[in-house]
Amino acid sequence: MPIDCKHCNAPCCRHAGLVSKELDRGDGTCKYLSWEGKCVIYSCRPFVCNTDRIYEKYFKDRMPREQFDKMNADACDFLRREDGKNSKQ
Ligand code: SF4
Ligand code: SF4
Repeated sequence: MPIDCKHCNAPCCRHAGLVSKELDRGDGTCKYLSWEGKCVIYSCRPFVCNTDRIYEKYFKDRMPREQFDKMNADACDFLRREDGKNSKQ
């Protein structure tokens, strides 16, 4: 099942600078993340943010979609857990 971002405060987008200097607004957060935690260019977001395109290009021949989605969901869980820990410090 694809990732449901509805109830997430986008820790991935707040650390986008780790994967793309072009997205970094200067503090690691993506310059396209709105103050409400939404991507303002979602429909034309870059390749690195688009799991459908990444799957098609790099993973389709290597694993079923369910496995890829599970891998992404695990990464999201990790990010959210770490984000929760850091926000309590
Ligand atoms: S961490 Fe995962 S669930 Fe949260 S916004 Fe990013 S992709 Fe969506
Ligand atoms: S472009 Fe959109 S989806 Fe990609 S990191 Fe920035 S806010 Fe998130």
